[in-house]
Order: sequence, then structure tokens, then C-alpha cells
Amino acid sequence: MTQQAPRAEAWHARAASEVLAVLNTDGAGLSASEAELRLQRYGPNLLPVAQVRPAWLRFLDQFNNLLVLVLLAAGVLTLLLGHVLDAAVIIGVTIVNALIGFVQEGRAEAALAAIGKMLTPTARVLRGGQQLAVDAARLVPGDIVLLAEGDKVPADLRLFEVKALRVEEAALTGEAEPVEKSVAPVDSEAVPGDRLCMAFSGTLVVHGQGRGVVVATGAASEIGQISAMLAAVERIDTPLLTRMASFSRQLTLAIGVLAVVVFALGVWGAGYAWSEMFMVAVGIAVAAIPEGLPAIVTITLAIGVQRMAKRNAIVRRLPAVETLGSVSVICTDKTGTLTRNEMTVLRVATGEQVFELDGTGYGPEGGIHVGGRRIEPRDYAVLGELALAGLLCNDAQVRQGVDGWQLQGDPTEGALCTLALKLGLEHAEEAARAPRHDVIPFAAEHRYMATLHEAAIYLKGAPEAVLARCDRQRGDSGDIPLDQAYWLAQETALASEGLRVLALAQRVPDAEQAELSLDALGGHFVLLGLVGIIDPPREEVRASLARCHGAGIRVKMITGDHAITARAIASQLGIGGDAGRTLTGSQIEAMSDADLRAVVHEVDVFARASPAHKLRLVEALQAGGAVVAMTGDGVNDAPALKRASVGVAMGQKGTEVAREAAGMVLTDDNFASIGHAVEEGRTVYENIRKAILYILPTNGGEVGGIVLAMLLGWQMPITPVQILWVNMFTEITLSISLAFLPAAAACMQRPPRDPAESLISGFLLWRLLLVSLLMAGASLLVFQLELTTGASIAQARTAAVNMIVVGEAAYLLNCGDLEHCVLGSLLRNRPAWLAIAVVMSLQLAFTYLPTLQLLFGTAALPVASWGYILLLGLTLLLLVEGEKGLRMWLERRT
Ligand code: ATP
Repeated sequence: MTQQAPRAEAWHARAASEVLAVLNTDGAGLSASEAELRLQRYGPNLLPVAQVRPAWLRFLDQFNNLLVLVLLAAGVLTLLLGHVLDAAVIIGVTIVNALIGFVQEGRAEAALAAIGKMLTPTARVLRGGQQLAVDAARLVPGDIVLLAEGDKVPADLRLFEVKALRVEEAALTGEAEPVEKSVAPVDSEAVPGDRLCMAFSGTLVVHGQGRGVVVATGAASEIGQISAMLAAVERIDTPLLTRMASFSRQLTLAIGVLAVVVFALGVWGAGYAWSEMFMVAVGIAVAAIPEGLPAIVTITLAIGVQRMAKRNAIVRRLPAVETLGSVSVICTDKTGTLTRNEMTVLRVATGEQVFELDGTGYGPEGGIHVGGRRIEPRDYAVLGELALAGLLCNDAQVRQGVDGWQLQGDPTEGALCTLALKLGLEHAEEAARAPRHDVIPFAAEHRYMATLHEAAIYLKGAPEAVLARCDRQRGDSGDIPLDQAYWLAQETALASEGLRVLALAQRVPDAEQAELSLDALGGHFVLLGLVGIIDPPREEVRASLARCHGAGIRVKMITGDHAITARAIASQLGIGGDAGRTLTGSQIEAMSDADLRAVVHEVDVFARASPAHKLRLVEALQAGGAVVAMTGDGVNDAPALKRASVGVAMGQKGTEVAREAAGMVLTDDNFASIGHAVEEGRTVYENIRKAILYILPTNGGEVGGIVLAMLLGWQMPITPVQILWVNMFTEITLSISLAFLPAAAACMQRPPRDPAESLISGFLLWRLLLVSLLMAGASLLVFQLELTTGASIAQARTAAVNMIVVGEAAYLLNCGDLEHCVLGSLLRNRPAWLAIAVVMSLQLAFTYLPTLQLLFGTAALPVASWGYILLLGLTLLLLVEGEKGLRMWLERRT
């Protein structure tokens, strides 16, 4: 039995120490066994699951559809006219169709829900004095949680330590402006927005750091209390789906009008009996309305989302699937996305020497050389000082684990830990000798980090940020004035090798200095030297970039690194060409929006860029009509991610805030996964187009047959219930297979689709007309052939229906590729053949099973009839292929 955490407490009104005491915990956190016990007692930290619509309601919802209602009305009228069997079939088929829709919709919803669960949040806690990352669902009251910029608060916390902690509480209070947190108790009557010493589950840390004790989890948390509000299920909805739905509605209306006109013409113009014409009109409505279309679009989207998830791209917002297919520019970070984010110091430049280091990865193996000669690091005091600065001004740790050397924290800092280890400096020992009193954490905006210790302030960061605060440099025999030109030359030399360059400096703190602040860090630092860090490109990225270029997608690198480093890495990967221009953040700042717009398309490398520049770049690109995918990981990337056509967040190194803002999350942080997602996005769109181009002409064929027969004064070649059979069973089964078609090689060989391009093109209308005529012609031909050879009307109709279905099967194979010939790859279209096998078994039952013969008015066919039906099917297949060939030929000629 789980019980709720003690909720009635006004934690915000009590002193932090008191709260810790009540919850029986201290600053070191709970023990593992106590945490386990409390988990049993209070239950997991999960919000109550959203109330899904009950099954019966979802089933009834299937009838909330104009066509189904028309059909039911027709069924009732048919009954009134005395056609009991027909009425039973119409109503029966309607119900079976609703069942199929119900099951498919359920599967699509379940698939999407499963993907939503793939992004489970973790929380950093202290347990037994150790810092651990645990699944947020396993938090319990009494746990000590560490918060940092970019985190989503995992449970309700009473804060007891804050450093410039600002939290955005819009999820809870609707207030978008971040709130500055503190630790002092507040009035017990304060509303959640005023409880400054609390951090609430589901809110976002946009700045600073903090620690708090968990006071409420799951349903007991503030957000849990109001989660009934959030319980509404997110409907599957995208711009394309909306357009499809409205298109379907318009079409239904048009077809309704057509049916009425045909009815009137038949009764008053051609003198048919009105009861007969009524059935014809119903037949036309049933035949023409593309009832399967919305379902197919939904299923295609759901399958696309699943396929992307398998390829490491988790879609958070469904419209992103469609947009991905039309992306024309990808703006990507460098570090970790294009490169491996495995950093190793390769060079160290001090005032007097340049050291070269061996080794890769985080293991402290490999020698140190100067000018090709191996040296003993102990003989170089400045090198040792620089390594110590790099070790203490650092939040990462490298440790030897079972699988070799493991990094915890930022890779750039990890590289500096390894450098220190190579010089025999141990983190625990040095940190104990010179404890840290304060820190300015690294941020992409100011590009440095500083720490305060008893005897020194250490500063490390981008060379221009550090050098600006230095007036001297350390030499082998004491400090001398800073030689700007020397350092600039060293920096350029390191960066041209594609190395990431950091400068390290130190100074003596002011007397009794207890704090560091951004505004008052001051100058007068002594520069110790520069380090050059290698971060090798990811192997698979080169090929992926080439594919993107082949697909007409421009890839732009936006990095915080130095322009020369960025340029070197870009040319290693093949971004931007050798002559390409590079823009830096400060150049972007100096430009007006109009100037930026004028050059942004031509520049592929942006260096020393910060998140604000990313936002301006997206806007400039979009103003030029580009559809932009943009990657990001930090809190400040959120505006650019939201603004981009598709925001792409990093699953591993990204913050929770960036993930919330993004439309898609990469589980492996790898650029290649964006390429795959674009490919799947294009495939989804193509498959939807195929479904439309498949369904509409087959419907057209049936209507064409009926209208032609009427105009010729013939008997109806197919009855309304038979049309129902064809549309509701065979056509839907066949068309679903289109959603499963894999990506075609050609889809990444053409330029991106214009997002404004209409789905219903002239091409579609032409194809619609052609296939409609071919199908109508073939079925009428078969119908007449049967009648002239003395077959019964039932047998002739059975043959006509089978002709339509075989024609549909043949055209399904054509639709494997809309523009190109499929004859060479016919057998490879496995989904189509599977669907054809199912449908042909259904047709055999339809033709030969006595019960179905009775229900649908069919009769057994002789083998000879099958012979020419199949032959005509093959002819249809070849004619459509011929049309494709002709089009291609004509296109080449123009
Ligand atoms: P991107 O991922 O967008 O390609 P980036 O993440 O590599 O870029 P930043 O992390 O913003 O870029 O780094 C910019 C510069 O700041 C680096 O070139 C380096 O000089 C410096 N820098 C990076 N990390 C740290 C750190 N932890 N401490 C101090 N300085 C750093």
C-alpha cells in the first residue's frame, strides 16, 4: 500500500533545518536502504496517468463521421424499402468498418504514447553522501536533489541552498517570467507563485544552481494536484491531417451533390424507378467518398514516428514529422553533434615552450615532448602550474572504471583532468589542499570559468576572454609583461590544426575575498598558457553530410569555438568548401537584420556564436524562405529551438529545458540521426502522397463504371453492397501497405519539397482521370463479356467486382513509386504483396463462399473468367508504367 507524503505541512513557512529534521534526513541525503523503504511507502514519483478515453467512447467516435452517418441513413431507408438483406449488409459493413478504424486508431495512439515514454527524466541526488543520477520516478520525500541550469525540477523541493537560482514556473502558475529563489521561509498563506523557498515539480531551472529536500512526489506534488487539468489527451493532429480532413469534408459534400444530381437525372431524365436510382445514388456516394484516407494519413505518420525512434530521433511534436520532410537548411552545433565530444589535450603552449602530448581518450597514458624530444614534466614548473589551474578550475572528474577511464562531466574539462593526471596531479588530493570557496560557472555567453581558492583565483576560458583580463605572463624565471602578439600567433597555430583552444590564468585574490562575481572579477591575471584540445569528427558524419548535400539541404555549422578551429573542422568534414566565408558572433552583432539576410545563405560556418546569434540566424534564414532545422542543448538555445521550423535537442548532453522547447530529440546527439530523420520525414510525406494517389483513382474507377453504365442505359455492373465491400475491406487493406513502404533511395536525391506545394497537384488530377477511366473501362468490359457469353447477372457482377479488385492490386504495385518505373523492383515491394495475398483470399471467399454469395449477391466464376481478369489487370499495370515512361521522356525533352 502506498501512502501520500505528509501534504498538509506548509513546508514553505518552516525553516529549512526544521524541514530536514521532520523528514528525517540531512545534507548528505538518505541511505540507499531508507530510500528503498520510502519508495515502497510513498510510491513512485509519477504523475497520475492521463485519463484515456474509454474504449466504448472511442468506438462510438468512429460513427461521428459524415460518411458513416450517410451510410446508416441509407441502411435504414433500404430497410424501409424492404431490402432487408441489403440493409443488414450496409449496417454490418458500417459496424465492421468502425471496428477496424477503432483498432487502427488505438494502435497509432499506443505507438505514439510508447515513444513519449522513451524520454524519461533523471534527477541528481545525494544519497549516503554520494552524488548519483537516478530515475526521477524513484525520488522519495527526504531525498536531497541538486539543481543546475537547464534542469526540470523533478519533485517539490524545499530549497536550502541557492546560488542565483532562477526558475520558470509557467507550467504551474502560468507566469513566464522566471522567479528568483531564496531559502528563507515565507508566510504560510503564500500562494505557490510566492513560495520563493520552494521549487516545484515540472518547473524549469533557467539559471544558477541550488539544493533542496524533496517534500512531495507524484500526485502529492503541486502539479500532481492540478494534473487533472493536464489529463486531456493530446489529439493526433498535424497541419497535413487538418488539411486532409477538410479536403475529405469538401469532397464528401461534392460527392453528395453528384449523387443527388445523378438520382434526379436518372428518375426524371432517364425514367429509372426511384427506388432503383436511390440505390445507385447510395452506391455512388459509397464508391466515391475516400473513407480510408484520414486513417491512412494517421497511420503513416505513426509508423514514420516509430521508424525515426528506431533511428535515434524521438519526435516530441507530431507536425515535426511533416516539416522534417521539407527541411532545406540544417544548422548544427559542432561539439558532440559533428564531433565525438571526446576531448584530449594535444598541445600546451607556455611562454617559453610548446609541449606535444601523446595519447587519446581520458586515460593518462602517453609521453610529453618538446620539439620531438621526450621530456620530464617535473622539469617544467609553469607546465605544472597550468595543469593545476586546469584541474582546480574544473567540475569534471575522470576515474578508472571497469571499462577503462570514464569521464563524469564536461569533456573539455575532462581533457584538463587527464592532462593533470599525466603530470601526476590527483583531483581529490589537490582539492583538499586548496578547497574551492566560490565559482563562476562556464557559460556560452561569457566563455570562461573562474574559481576562488585560499591562495589563488583560477581563470580558464576562450583565449580572448582570458587574455583581456591578463597583463602579465608566467615565465620560467618569473612574471613578465604579456606578449599579445606571441599568444595570438600560438592561438592561430593551434586553431589551424582544428584544435579547441583554452587559456589558463591565475591571480592572488584580494584580501579576505570570499566571493566571485561576473561584474567584479577584475583584471591583473597572470597568463599561464594555452591548451589545444582535439575532438575528432564522428566517422559517420561525413557520409551523412554528403547525403544531405545530395538532397539539396544546406548544412551550416554554428559553434562557440574559434573561427579558425571551426573552419578547420568544417573543411575536414566537407562543410562550406575551402573558399567559404566564416562569420563570427561579433560580426553578426555588427550587422543589421537586412545585411544578415543578404549573406546568411552563402555562409556555412559561424564561429564564436552564442545562443542569441542562433536566434537571429534562424530568423534571417526563414525570412529568405528556408525551412530550418536547428540543434541546441542549453537553456539559452530554447528560443532558437522554438523559432526553428524543427528544433532539435540533444538527448545526452542537452538540458531538459532545451528538450521541452524542441520538436525532436536525438538520443545519440549525432548529426547522422538528423539526416536519417529527414529521410524518414520525406518518406512519410511520399507515402501519404502515394496513399492519396492510390485511393482517389480507385474510387474514381468505381464511380466512373456506375455513371458510364447509367449513361449507356446498362444494368448496374456493381451493386451498392458490393461497392461497400470493395471500399471498406479491399481498398483499405491494400492502401495500408503503402504506409509501410521503406524509404526510396531516390528520396534523398532530389531537392527539398516546397512546403507551400499543394498535395492535390495537376499530376494527381491527370493520374486520377487516367486510372479511373482504365478501371471503369476494364470492369465494364468484363461485365459485358460475361453477359454476352450467357452468364447470369450475379456472375457478371462478381466478375466486374473482381476486376476492380485485381485492378486495384495492379495499381497498388504501380504506386510503389509514383514517378519511376517499378517493373524492375516489383518483387521487392513486400508490403504490397502481403496485402494482395490477404485481399485475394478475401475475394475467393467473396466469390465462392455460400454465405457471402447470399449476402453480397455474388456467384462462382469459371477459371476462364479469372484468366482474362488477371490479363486485364496486367495490362493496366503495364499501361500505367507506360504513362510514367512517357512522362519521364517528355520531362527530359523539355
Ligand atoms: P557548439 O557545441 O555550439 O559547437 P561549443 O559548445 O563547442 O560549440 P562552447 O561550449 O560555447 O562551444 O565553447 C566556446 C569556447 O569556450 C571554447 O572554444 C572554449 O575556448 C571555451 N570553453 C568551452 N568549455 C569551457 C569550460 N568548461 N570552461 C572554460 N572555457 C570553456
